[in-house]
Amino acid sequence: MKVHWQGERLSVVEGDITRFEGDAIVNAANRSLLGGGGVDGAIHRAAGPELLEACRALRARVWPDGLPVGQVAVTPGFRLAANHVIHTVGPVYARTEDRSAPLADCYRRALDVAAEQEFARLAFPAISTGVYGYPAEAAARIVSGVVRERLPDIPGLEVTLVFFSAKDAETFLTAATL
Ligand code: ADP
Repeated sequence: MKVHWQGERLSVVEGDITRFEGDAIVNAANRSLLGGGGVDGAIHRAAGPELLEACRALRARVWPDGLPVGQVAVTPGFRLAANHVIHTVGPVYARTEDRSAPLADCYRRALDVAAEQEFARLAFPAISTGVYGYPAEAAARIVSGVVRERLPDIPGLEVTLVFFSAKDAETFLTAATL
């Protein structure tokens, strides 16, 4: 993974999140939890079929109607280099409604899980900025705000923000306040 920016416990990199070695990667899932395209599809392919089974079990036991937007659910990482997957569902972007709060919830709740489970290394993709259409600059401001607010209270945690292209990483860095 190519590093575009490195802070004390936060880095911005370009690469494929399925290759991340650490305690957990966050998945930009959909409400069904049963797989999809984009980063979700890539994570399921790299983790193997056990991940889908674990997600089916979550649906059966915990979230029969699907995972609500802004919520998180944890599974093992199976064949991934990361030990866990924190699944979350970002909001679909809407010009007529401010959905920054649910997008912030995705990041905040994933960070809460990392704090509770005493994870040392966590990676996020750019949730909602693909098929869900959230403008990258607006997402960058939300994400950097949450991380700046929360990371100081989770001293053992290093966070990596993974972007799929150099352009996405640079767009983030231009819009974010780090
Ligand atoms: P959403 O439905 O939440 O918008 P997408 O998967 O469509 O989710 O896109 C979220 C972001 O993840 C996009 O910026 C996309 O470029 C990026 N992405 C897709 N595949 C990967 C991957 N393997 N690693 C990291 N980021 C990825």
